[in-house]
Amino acid sequence: MSAAGFDVVIVGGGAAGITVAAQLRRHRTTLSIALVEPSETHAYQPGWTMVGAGVFSMKQTQRRQETLIPPGVTWFRIGADAFEPERNAVILADGRRLTYASLVLCPGLQLDWNRIEGLQDALGANGVCSNYASAHAEYTWRCIQELDGGTALFTQPAMPIKCAGAPQKIMYLASDALRRTGRLDRVDVEFCLSGSVLFGVPFFVPALQRSIDEYGIRVNYGHTLTAVDGPARKAVFSAIGPGGQTREIVRDFDMLHVTPPQGPPDFIRNSPFADAAGWVSVDPETLQHTRFPNVFGLGDAAGTTNAKTAAAVRLQAPVVVRNLLAAVDGRSLTAAYDGYGSCPLTTAYGRVVLAEFGYGGRIMPSFPIDPRVPRFSAWLLKQNILPALYWNWMLKGSELDIRHRERTFEKAA
Ligand SMILES: Cc1cc2nc3c(=O)[nH]c(=O)nc-3n(C[C@H](O)[C@H](O)[C@H](O)COP(=O)(O)OP(=O)(O)OC[C@H]3O[C@@H](n4cnc5c(N)ncnc54)[C@H](O)[C@@H]3O)c2cc1C
Repeated sequence: MSAAGFDVVIVGGGAAGITVAAQLRRHRTTLSIALVEPSETHAYQPGWTMVGAGVFSMKQTQRRQETLIPPGVTWFRIGADAFEPERNAVILADGRRLTYASLVLCPGLQLDWNRIEGLQDALGANGVCSNYASAHAEYTWRCIQELDGGTALFTQPAMPIKCAGAPQKIMYLASDALRRTGRLDRVDVEFCLSGSVLFGVPFFVPALQRSIDEYGIRVNYGHTLTAVDGPARKAVFSAIGPGGQTREIVRDFDMLHVTPPQGPPDFIRNSPFADAAGWVSVDPETLQHTRFPNVFGLGDAAGTTNAKTAAAVRLQAPVVVRNLLAAVDGRSLTAAYDGYGSCPLTTAYGRVVLAEFGYGGRIMPSFPIDPRVPRFSAWLLKQNILPALYWNWMLKGSELDIRHRERTFEKAA
């Protein structure tokens, strides 16, 4: 099949891909850039918690992809399938080949709905919902509104997942909605999570535990959802007992909010760019590929230990752009990403714990106030300011947050 050559090929046009494309255009207008992205719709996924809570409509979180592609960038409206790094080539799903001088990998992560038996069929009816699916996040709000007693289960799979706080955020908002309408006493809310801690950064755990206690939520650690029967309203869990033994537990539910298992996209996992776990193997600071110097990775697909969030992308993109251009020019890579990610934890309507942290769980608050306190100001940030920043600044290539931009830290190209 025919080949086309570009200075930069970007695989994935989500938060990371559009941001990098826009910033590259600003830094060096002469570059020829191709963006490989199969979806016609671009979503502001951080808004999906608010969709499930009835604050936003799904439509408010979506825009047509073509309105976001920066001028001068060539859009290939198809998925990438494979790579030939020795030929600097990306193979598209229709067999076409794109060659590149530099490659940016940011196709996000894969939601593995099929790893839970019966889930695909169950979603969207009988109280089975998920804020992780654009087609079903609005149904979450319907489930919350219609729930009038019984059991509401909220699940969380093994890490890593995108926005690790999202399974809890909707649970607290649902509990608050139930409390405000006098139904919380009639509903047993339970958090069923595969892991053994409420949140990966211990600093924020007491704040979340307070919400758990306040709403009377029961927490079931070591519980992994394995199957769902929608019409029978039964959920099957593999549960780790106190002695470490695993047993199967079948639970009845009236509402089931599922966060699906997540992992690297198959075409990345099966590519020469993958690390042992299947993610794009990059240096955690320069975001340059560990084996191919003309390849960079960022966003959810990157094999870094930061929180997989759009907030992380906001600070990764300028690092990738600077280091990619440095590599092209034969300069050393001086930009370093410090693992910043942010998770605005909605503990109630009008209340957010703004968790901001970097590599190793280092607390990195943007404001000089205790970030563990749920605040209305942080809710306004989540509801009004962050979406506007995303659409109007970040995706347009404005570098809002230059805190971590140029470090004295130096890495050889
Ligand atoms: C419910 C929910 C709540 C969240 N809450 C927050 C929050 O409060 N704060 C926050 O910062 N983040 C939040 N996030 C996470 C945030 O949305 C992601 O971390 C962010 O979108 C990652 O950007 P990305 O570009 O890596 O991936 P994405 O934005 O997912 O984009 C990946 C793109 O790659 C494309 N793609 C897939 N396969 C291929 C292929 N084969 N070839 C080419 N392209 C491909 C996809 O179509 C997609 O457009 C939340 C996410 C969810 C689902």
